[in-house]
Parts: sequence; C-alpha cells; structure tokens
Amino acid sequence: MRPAGHHNTLATVIRGLAAEKSPACLLDTQGTFLFVNEAWDRHALANGGAPACLGSSLIGTSWLDHIHGEEVRQLHASLLERALRARGPHPRPIIQVGESNTPTMAALLSTRLETVLQGGEALAITIVHSTVRERPIAEVYDLVDRPPEAYRDARGEIVECSCCRRVRDPAEPDRWDLVPAMLAEPVRATHSLCELCSELHCGAGEHT
Ligand SMILES: [Zn+2]
Repeated sequence: MRPAGHHNTLATVIRGLAAEKSPACLLDTQGTFLFVNEAWDRHALANGGAPACLGSSLIGTSWLDHIHGEEVRQLHASLLERALRARGPHPRPIIQVGESNTPTMAALLSTRLETVLQGGEALAITIVHSTVRERPIAEVYDLVDRPPEAYRDARGEIVECSCCRRVRDPAEPDRWDLVPAMLAEPVRATHSLCELCSELHCGAGEHT
C-alpha cells in the first residue's frame, strides 16, 4: 500500500489530466498505464484506434508494448528513462516533437513526459500529446499516388516511418513516399524511422 500522501498526489494529477484538452495519460514508474483521459479516447476513436487504443483496453498494460518497431520502441524507452531521471524541485519535462499526418493534414505533435515527484521520489509519469502546428499535407510533402504493392520489398514487407508515415521505396531505399491512400487505409507495415524524422525529431543533437 502506498501512503495516503502519494494517493492524494496521484488523484490531483489525474484530475489535471482529465481536464486537459489534449490526449494525455498517466503511467506508473514501470511504464504501465494507470489513467487515460477523454481526449485520448476521442483521438483513438477518430483515428481508427478503437478498441485497442482506448483507455479501457490500455489500463494495466505497458505503454511500450503498444509501440511497434524495435527502433521506435527503443526511442520511447529512452524517453521514459530520461523522464524518470529528472530530479530536483522543478524537474524539466522531456519533450519529443513528432508528426501525426492524415491524408489531408500534416500535424506537428509534441509529446511531453513529466515525472510526478513526491519528496524526491518518482511516483508516476504524465504524458501529454499536443498539436503544435497543422498544415495541409500537400504543402509539406510531395504526394504520391502508387498502389501499396509498389512498396513491398523482396521479403514482402512494407516499411513505414512511424513518425511521418511515409513508406520506403524498395527500389530506392533512400526514398520515402507520402501516399495519402495508404494513410486513409493503413496496410500492415513494419515500423521504422525515416532518415528525415530521425534527424528532425529524434536526432542525437536533441537536448532537453
Ligand atoms: Zn519519417
């Protein structure tokens, strides 16, 4: 049993997240979902993530287990570790900027991880996803209209960047295409990070 003070702290944090307009969740220090707000569920419903990504399915499961692609999962694991290492009276949140693209809109999304501390001890981690900027997708990427089959490599796999959702051209591995039709009707793909997203959003030069 946790002391009552911890319970009160978490209850206050959960009330704050519930009032958040952006999708937000609370994880314990092991990375297990404790709470997911309404905006999170609304986002999942609007983006075809129901029922697997609804709070009712997530609570009690591991945040990292829902992240596909080894490279992408490792990146998120390191975000969690960095958030948990934050100490001091005013620990700085960890902020990761990524993309959330649809067939029509390109959004820059910020993911903010913040450790809930009490008496210097980490109790939990809050994660809030907020939209930084939205632009018509055609202004950000050259749109390509090719069938999904054109992106299957010799092993029959399609590699998709989990950040911008562009797909790798197996004939030209440096080339990643944004195919609106494949965003509208996602196909089974292996998740990775394209060079641009690795550099822009997840690069080694990133500091917090
Ligand atoms: Zn990308």
